Amino acid sequence: MCGIVGVFNHPQAAVLSYYALHALQHRGQEASGIVTMYHDGVKDKKRFGVHKGEGLVLDVFSEHDVFTKTLRGEAAIGHNRYSTTGSNSLANIQPFHFNYTGGNFALAHNGNLTNTRSLRAKMKEDGAIFQTTTDSELFLHLIARSKQKTQIEQIREAVQTAQGAYSLVMLSENALYASRDPHGFRPLCVGRIKHEGGYAYVVASETCALDIISAEYIRDVEHNEILVIDQKTVDTGEFTSYYINESMTEARNCIFEYVYFSRPDSRIFGTPVDKVRRKLGKNLAEESPVEGSEDDKVVVIAVPDSGNTATLGYARVNEKKYPSRYEIGLIRSHYVGRTFIAPGQDKREFKVKTKFNVVRGVLEGNKVVVVDDSIVRGTTSKSLVNLIREAKPREVHVRITSPPVKHPCMYGMDFPSSEELIANHYDSEEAIAKELGADSLRYLSVEGLMDAVPQGPGIGYCTACFTGSYPVKVDLASTKLATEE
Ligand code: SF4
Repeated sequence: MCGIVGVFNHPQAAVLSYYALHALQHRGQEASGIVTMYHDGVKDKKRFGVHKGEGLVLDVFSEHDVFTKTLRGEAAIGHNRYSTTGSNSLANIQPFHFNYTGGNFALAHNGNLTNTRSLRAKMKEDGAIFQTTTDSELFLHLIARSKQKTQIEQIREAVQTAQGAYSLVMLSENALYASRDPHGFRPLCVGRIKHEGGYAYVVASETCALDIISAEYIRDVEHNEILVIDQKTVDTGEFTSYYINESMTEARNCIFEYVYFSRPDSRIFGTPVDKVRRKLGKNLAEESPVEGSEDDKVVVIAVPDSGNTATLGYARVNEKKYPSRYEIGLIRSHYVGRTFIAPGQDKREFKVKTKFNVVRGVLEGNKVVVVDDSIVRGTTSKSLVNLIREAKPREVHVRITSPPVKHPCMYGMDFPSSEELIANHYDSEEAIAKELGADSLRYLSVEGLMDAVPQGPGIGYCTACFTGSYPVKVDLASTKLATEE
């Protein structure tokens, strides 16, 4: 998970980063940070401006002074944190910044490395002292310890050594670097904005971060690529690009980004998420419609917000087959903070109630189809079915626009262990439906999922959490890193 952004050649680089991070808030709500690079005229040196904190972007950067006094400079990188490795300590908030023989350098990472433990152990033996408990810090050590002569070669060596999933933005004294691992698990795109001083260049996890600052989308950072944005880019509009590995690996884009994680108004891996999500819903309705009649119309509702777009697709196809209609039956509150549970209240149920409420008139007495993107542990789905039942529908049918999640993610999505995944506890959809308290449950098939995403030469997906087929070998010990050390 995590959201990252980089801005180069803009007088308000930090402000643009701030808005971009705000648009990427869904990718991480735990902590946020921005690091800028500015020229100190008095000492004629490049310096860092740094501001980080726990919580949402709006809270972390609430003081205007932060932008005018601390975060000065024409280049910046930013990060929204969603921890998958490492504890929640302040030291783990990115971007990380350091000074080495190559000068000042900052880095922000989205993804999970799979060889963390072995790399860390080796570096510790060699005398490295780690400041954080994240896998991302490894990049700093790899770059700083590289014997390569140029900075780009140091970065290239570092990313060649790291394995697993990484989308990176890196800021040096003269350039902004952007890179995606050889499989391209996580998305990363490039845009530009015209201003009085020419073009500013922006790199971000998703295009919704470009839209909010009115940046024009140029292209994606390709998998297996290191992209350099520097003065030459500003002067000529051209990027310098390097391969990470000489031999090209087929892309393995995280298919779950389309299912759930990215925003529907974003374009990721070159394709609008909204389009894929509608198709997921349509394919599910083709596979598993819910029958109704003129006297017994089906009401199709979404679990907001992540289920909204796919539900439109589902409802459209279902209404072509049977009398049915799309309705808004669940309302989501966006202002959920900490919940204080009174004695006797069920914690999970109460959490769901603070987040969702039912529109009773829509559900009461009807055959309701509730469409959601995925089921992980099943505890939230169970509470949600309970909540819907309180509005006294006649039947509740659950439809999921992805296959059963049966395997943990090793590349940056915060899934629990195999034992905690509900799909591994029951051997049929009927049994899971019973556990959830629903009249029926149907998942989208793997074929239906693959049919909804773009296909073609050079396009490939990671589907490991559904199929168990992991594109990069996993050093299982690595996934438990950090907090226990
Ligand atoms: S395992 Fe699932 S969530 Fe993780 S990268 Fe692969 S498709 Fe994405």
